[in-house]
Amino acid sequence: MLSSVLIANRGEIAVRVMKTAKRLGLRTIAVYSEADAGAMHVRMADEAYCIGPAAARESYLVIEKIIAVAKQAKAEAIHPGYGFLSERAEFAEACAEAGIVFVGPPASAIRAMGLKDGAKALMQKAGVPVVPGYHGANQEPKFLKEKAYEIGYPVLIKAVAGGGGKGMKRVDKAVDFDEALASAQREAQGAFGDPRVLIEKYVLSPRHIEIQVFGDSHGNVVHLFERDCSLQRRHQKVIEEAPAPGMPAAMREAMGRAAVEAAKAVGYVGAGTVEFIADGSQGLQPDRFWFMEMNTRLQVEHPVTESITGQDLVEWQLRVASGERLPLLQENLSIEGHAVEARLYAEDPEKGFLPSTGKLHALEFGSAEGVRIDTGVEEGAEVSPYYDPMIAKIIAHGATRDEALDRLGAALAATVVAGPRTNVRFLKALTEAQGFREGDFDTGFIDRNVEALGAVPQPMDARAAAVGVLRLIQGDLKRLNQTGIDFRESPWEPAHADGFLLSNDPWKRKLAVVVDSETQNAVVTWSQSGPAVVFGTGAPVTPAAPTLYGFGPLFDFIYAGDKVSYPCDSKLVSAGDRVFVIRNGRQTEVRAFDPLDVDLDHLDGGGSVKAPMHGKVVQVFVEAGQQVAKGDRIAVIEAMKMEHTLVAPSDGTVTMVAVLAGEQVAEGAPVASIEAAEAQAA
Ligand code: ADP
Ligand code: ADP
Ligand code: MG
Repeated sequence: MLSSVLIANRGEIAVRVMKTAKRLGLRTIAVYSEADAGAMHVRMADEAYCIGPAAARESYLVIEKIIAVAKQAKAEAIHPGYGFLSERAEFAEACAEAGIVFVGPPASAIRAMGLKDGAKALMQKAGVPVVPGYHGANQEPKFLKEKAYEIGYPVLIKAVAGGGGKGMKRVDKAVDFDEALASAQREAQGAFGDPRVLIEKYVLSPRHIEIQVFGDSHGNVVHLFERDCSLQRRHQKVIEEAPAPGMPAAMREAMGRAAVEAAKAVGYVGAGTVEFIADGSQGLQPDRFWFMEMNTRLQVEHPVTESITGQDLVEWQLRVASGERLPLLQENLSIEGHAVEARLYAEDPEKGFLPSTGKLHALEFGSAEGVRIDTGVEEGAEVSPYYDPMIAKIIAHGATRDEALDRLGAALAATVVAGPRTNVRFLKALTEAQGFREGDFDTGFIDRNVEALGAVPQPMDARAAAVGVLRLIQGDLKRLNQTGIDFRESPWEPAHADGFLLSNDPWKRKLAVVVDSETQNAVVTWSQSGPAVVFGTGAPVTPAAPTLYGFGPLFDFIYAGDKVSYPCDSKLVSAGDRVFVIRNGRQTEVRAFDPLDVDLDHLDGGGSVKAPMHGKVVQVFVEAGQQVAKGDRIAVIEAMKMEHTLVAPSDGTVTMVAVLAGEQVAEGAPVASIEAAEAQAA
């Protein structure tokens, strides 16, 4: 076995790899960017080295820096994790040159599978079924359009160098082809520096089913069954499971065999995944699946395979990298029960899944039977704008699919995140969604059900907001009491300490608060039973146990006449001047309105275009003085691997452009101002 390993990655995967490496007695070496100095993977490692600024391009993606640290630390091996340098053949070569073991396949295998066109051609030769389409060299738009016609619509245009769903466009009709092609090429050029595309038949009712393969340096290759990753959004996986629902034994056989053939065809060593697309329109059938691509690394969703096989795939990787034989042969592998994984992301499903950054004021995972949590952050850490927004993976195993999904649902319900917004409620809804529960789903399931899954703008949670206001009042009363000020003269003025009211009218006042960045008026009424808070026409919230300060520190309260005990379905997290109320997995943030904290940008007629999150300006499309129409592109901002296009809120004239391409912007920073056409006319 190896004696030491450097993990060229961050976050949950760095932590996950280190856990196994430590268990096997290896010395672990971490690398980190300046933004990750206090990160969990850094603290966990036996040694850690800073490799540069936050931007991955200047740290985690710089091969020379990582090799230099490996040499300095005398690392015997490097594990690349996933993402970053994991699928860069040059990195595997650089390791070899430096005499360091690369925990992964040979550079030649990475290269052979690196470009989708070459990989498809190779697979076709090896007798593996590939998606019908054109993956040749001719990139002439007219020619490609003819090919699309021959293949038959709908087709999928894919970047040859693609990954992460970028540069991928579905085209349903010939009239849309030219535009889709141009846009796919533009995206591919921008993301991969390579505009080439291929055209594929778009498989209807597509199920994404992939096979985990493993090879050793002695020529053995096995597969560890399939994973179903059909629950996707924008071609990105959201929930993965194993085995695939409705998988006939004959099809598992056929897919396993094809995947092993694929791995053998490129002399594969280590962990890899062969991704297939299956036509699920008439149930899964052994002759209706096709090769899509091979990922030459450990996959994000590998824990579901570990759960059903009882194997530790990182241990397998380290053993194989040490030159050992595969721990088990095909006949010794079997499936036990069912496993599901959900990716917990810092993003806001109610706002188009916009990434959300900031400090994790609370992060709790309930512990439950059959549940595994893989994470790289803890309470107090920052979700930074520089990297992938994944907070954790929640994996549940059960005897049956229903049991696994129930356990996953329970684990999600017990998950508390305060600070950044997350998709936890969305994931919970998915575990309960009818079609998915019944195993009747394909990759379009999420898109077809966004509304039912709650991924649309929702009205303010008035009850949660009122509870938040109660907490703010409580906090202020405590503070006032500590400073010796007679709270009866405080702006809150609880009726009377002895509960005696001078007049029959309860004391009532309007209180401006900011709920989820919108200013709102709460109405606070003081009576013998303490303060009651209400928003609009909602039911008032009052503390259940009034004390001298209005109510006790334990937060039982009365809502619409019912006593609600804390903690029940709500959780309160106070952080400085803010309160986060998490109710049924949804966060409501409440803070006192500060009249001095005026948002000047709001005063310019609403024509200001602001950065929706921290990120990098990739492109600016307008300049001052230019006329724009409502919906015209103003700029593109990239954050956490996603691009967001900012558009003109109205017709008008650009009066100011505040950013340059390449620049980093903060959330809420002005990007441009547009004077609306009506304003000009007036
Ligand atoms: P998968 O099928 O495993 O999701 P992808 O090719 O989409 O494969 O990406 C692999 C994973 O690597 C992503 O899901 C993401 O979590 C991770 N990843 C990619 N790029 C980065 C990055 N810059 N930082 C952190 N993680 C990354
Ligand atoms: P990436 O490198 O971005 O992961 P893939 O080729 O693996 O690209 O495709 C990503 C996703 O796009 C798949 O998981 C699947 O949902 C969808 N997809 C890919 N090819 C097809 C196809 N031919 N028909 C239907 N859906 C497809
Ligand atoms: Mg893929």
